[in-house]
Amino acid sequence: MRRRKNLVRGVLGAVILAMLLGHAQRSAAGESETKRPNILFIFSDDHATHAIGAYRGLFQSVDPTPNIDRLAREGMLFENSFCTNSICGPSRAVILTGKHSHRNGFMNNGNRFNPDQTTFPKLLQACGYQTALFGKWHLKSTPQGFDTWMVLPGQGAYYNPEFITPEGKRVIKGHCTQVVTDRAVEWLKESRDPEKPFLLMCQHKAPHRNWMPAFEHISLYDDVKLPEPGTLFDRWEDNAPAARHQEMEIDRHMDLHYDLFVDLTAEFDGDAIQKRQDRSARDNLWRMTPEQKIRWRAAYKADDAAFHAAKLTGKDLVRWKYQRYAKNYLRCVRGVDESVGELMETLKELGLEDNTIVVYSSDQGFYIGDHGWYDKRWMYEESLKMPLIIKWPGVTEPGARNTMMVQNLDYAETFLEAAGCDIDPEMQGRSLVPLLAGETPDDWRDEIYYHYYEYPSVHMVPRHYGIRTERYKLMHFYQFDEWEFYDLQNDPDELVNLYENPEYAGQIEKMRKRLVALRERVDDDSDVSLASPEWRSRFRPQAEAL
Ligand code: CA
Repeated sequence: MRRRKNLVRGVLGAVILAMLLGHAQRSAAGESETKRPNILFIFSDDHATHAIGAYRGLFQSVDPTPNIDRLAREGMLFENSFCTNSICGPSRAVILTGKHSHRNGFMNNGNRFNPDQTTFPKLLQACGYQTALFGKWHLKSTPQGFDTWMVLPGQGAYYNPEFITPEGKRVIKGHCTQVVTDRAVEWLKESRDPEKPFLLMCQHKAPHRNWMPAFEHISLYDDVKLPEPGTLFDRWEDNAPAARHQEMEIDRHMDLHYDLFVDLTAEFDGDAIQKRQDRSARDNLWRMTPEQKIRWRAAYKADDAAFHAAKLTGKDLVRWKYQRYAKNYLRCVRGVDESVGELMETLKELGLEDNTIVVYSSDQGFYIGDHGWYDKRWMYEESLKMPLIIKWPGVTEPGARNTMMVQNLDYAETFLEAAGCDIDPEMQGRSLVPLLAGETPDDWRDEIYYHYYEYPSVHMVPRHYGIRTERYKLMHFYQFDEWEFYDLQNDPDELVNLYENPEYAGQIEKMRKRLVALRERVDDDSDVSLASPEWRSRFRPQAEAL
């Protein structure tokens, strides 16, 4: 371990020296420059930790991610990695800025990211990095801080996706995951400036809803029955009311056609089917070529026929929907996993492997039938946790598993420190560089802050903020003044809300105090400052009494 620490210090020392030399001299002193590590940031959308083999979750038995697992064997896996706001655009904004949602202004997917604010790609670019971005952006405004960029509009499409580039829009035929990987590989091979270290962000749409795998993976798991989560038939009886009033149930809300591509033309006719087909066509199938559509239908034909014949109801129907959903989800994951493998091979081929930090992460977790749900948003574990695996050759110990509490709030600071660039003092996270080097700083955080804002909105998860420590979690659904408290050690699935349990009264009081202090520290009163006057007059006194 000491050798690694010394190595980090040595690398950082060289970096600081290079910076002191100034830009003109640094170009002349090429040797120092080449020691600054490249950063390859591979990012996906909605990839839950329990759908990664190395995280040893439910799907480990079907080996969902051999390449990401290899990255974990070669680098460090973070067991306790959390988002600050479990939804696509906001998580990306937190990563770019190192600031909580209420500070970077992108609190929900309806917001527009202020592109003029400080981001880590801009800072890396200013301190001599070549920067490139391919794939999902989801922040509405035009990317800044990238020498090269090509992004999907909004959520993007799986088949024959359209991209926005500085030169205008273009459509590229193929499956989105492969198209984005191809552009990243091509950039590494043909557009990289060998005089500069690089930041390459390869950001996939997959495995985001609607789960449309590539043809290479469409039959994967056809002959397998995937394991079911133990909470597939959770009825949320002992949670606060919010959990019972969401709209993300496989049972009641997941659509056979829109989400699962079941061909319903055999079942219905007239306007009803037209409406369903149109909804699907608008978002998904209409982008396919006639040949792709035929191939797509053929892939599900036998399964669809068996489904229609079985006429399932109740729990059997939920089980069937779960299998189709989870299989398509894992098929999309497999595309991302192969992208990780292809990018790692490319680094090797180009001799860049030893000096490139490779990061795999996703914007938040996801429910894959857990609690009977799909989607994310909640502060419950499955969507709060984010995958984070970092390989930094010569720094991270191969196969290391770090258990300290880290957040997407820390990524910007980490990349800046690793690159030897200044960290913006306004950033609210903390560099993970010491952790990557195997250190366990005494003053590392022992609690995390969370705040979700999108309500009323799709899936109907009320706004809430909360605090999680190693063992406990306290959440406040403040629009309804409902509280939840969980003991994660005794109840890891968060099935029994203990907020009214007198045995925990002392612990809850401690956690309430910590939450107040944490909210002050991160400077968040956005639940009140953004609220309507009616809401304020009703709930302000309670918020103040916290
Ligand atoms: Ca997402």
